[in-house]
Amino acid sequence: MTPHFEPTPAIPFMSPKVIGQNIVERILSSHIQKLDCAVEYGTELRSFEQNEAGVVAQIVTKDGDKEKTTTIKSQFLVGADGARGIVRKQLGLTFLGETRETVRIITGDIRFKCPGLSRNYFEVFKDDAAGDFIAFRPTDEIIGGDGWQLIVSGDRFDVDTLLSDKEALYSVIRETLNAPVDFLELVWISEFRPNIRMVNSLGRVRVFVAGDAAHVHSPTGGQGLNSGVQDVFNLAWKIALVAKGISPLSFLETYTAERLPVIAQMLNITTAILDKTIGPNRGPVESAMERGRILFMLGVNYRTSPIVLDEFSAGIPPVPAYQLDRSDELVAGDRAPDAPGLVEGSATVRLFDIFKPTHHTVLVFAPDVQVAADIVKSLEAYFAFACSVVILPASAILGSPIPSARVVVDKDNYAHTHYLIKDEPRVIIVRPDSVVGAIVAGSSGVHKYFGLIQVY
Ligand SMILES: Cc1cc2nc3c(=O)[nH]c(=O)nc-3n(C[C@H](O)[C@H](O)[C@H](O)COP(=O)(O)OP(=O)(O)OC[C@H]3O[C@@H](n4cnc5c(N)ncnc54)[C@H](O)[C@@H]3O)c2cc1C
Repeated sequence: MTPHFEPTPAIPFMSPKVIGQNIVERILSSHIQKLDCAVEYGTELRSFEQNEAGVVAQIVTKDGDKEKTTTIKSQFLVGADGARGIVRKQLGLTFLGETRETVRIITGDIRFKCPGLSRNYFEVFKDDAAGDFIAFRPTDEIIGGDGWQLIVSGDRFDVDTLLSDKEALYSVIRETLNAPVDFLELVWISEFRPNIRMVNSLGRVRVFVAGDAAHVHSPTGGQGLNSGVQDVFNLAWKIALVAKGISPLSFLETYTAERLPVIAQMLNITTAILDKTIGPNRGPVESAMERGRILFMLGVNYRTSPIVLDEFSAGIPPVPAYQLDRSDELVAGDRAPDAPGLVEGSATVRLFDIFKPTHHTVLVFAPDVQVAADIVKSLEAYFAFACSVVILPASAILGSPIPSARVVVDKDNYAHTHYLIKDEPRVIIVRPDSVVGAIVAGSSGVHKYFGLIQVY
């Protein structure tokens, strides 16, 4: 299904993992708890207004039959309220696209024992002639150690009956597996029809949409939640800079400029996989279940963004917003690669430990400390939101430390290789969302880049 790739020094996390939404929610909740925040369940956004000063939202909580309305004033509002959410609607954004009314897919979690069905594989039973698509993904997220995530689709199935009559569903499963099945529990079951839609803009002024509130599509390809997380990662650091008064409000328009082309292409990619899987033009099971490396999203890029700067990209042909990641080309707007083996005093660190979502990281590649010190000095004006890291080649003589910059030695040459550094000094500015914001020769490029951030 998904080709196996070994981790590399540039891409340390290469194995896709399928996990259920309950686990994802637990991970996200535990993270925001560390920031002293909590999800307030049972709390509904009813309406909002925005003005020059901020956003005024009406929030409703219920106590039995009684409703309590609270007014919350904030600088910004991000509607991550799903496909049916009200933020998109109240903002008046369009949600153009299509609903595949005729494609009805049953999904759910079920517990059963069937000795013939391996728990080591995601097993797909596909009858191309009949149009059946039945899949069982073993999952230990359901208590009991005998849980499966179930997908059933096919023209011959009466979806309403399978949703309401457990025995009818069990009989389809028995027939598919062609083996005795000991059913234990139907944990939940539901139906979905693919919707393929996206907004015309990801927000207006101080109010934004992210995730399914902004784009819905077929789950084939597993891009939905991943895209939603990337939406908010793109937006969050920009809001932080505006809230701190470093960037103007108009800077937030770059959220739409950067993410919309990515989303548009993602819809095309996932729809193409849907068409290969289900429907009149479906292909054989091998082609339907093929998941190319492009879906790893490592080649997603913002090269056409108005706030990235590359002094060396002249002559490089334009690429789509989703492309295969490549190690022989790095242009501003691309994902910043990792590099392990950086020696810092007595410690060894990697770039992925150094990058942080709270600030820009300015990588100064220089042959020696003296050259680096001049460039670092020009960064002083940006210390409030950018940290400098000087990366010296393995052959460099360390010399005296540079105030206000970390200095590391690229012992194994990974950083120089992954960032395609030759002999000349280079400055690579990595944004808080781990995207390369700028590739420049020195101080003047640095000022130009941060000028874009501060006055866009
Ligand atoms: C069968 C299936 C398989 C999928 N598989 C994958 C996969 O493998 N990989 C992947 O990346 N994605 C996958 N997806 C997509 C993924 O589930 C969604 O993209 C993701 O859950 C969207 O998250 P979200 O937070 O944007 O929206 P939602 O999950 O819809 O969450 C929105 C939340 O907002 C709340 N809400 C709505 N209105 C209000 C309001 N007015 N006030 C307060 N709260 C409100 C809702 O109650 C809900 O809790 C799959 C989807 C389906 C259907």
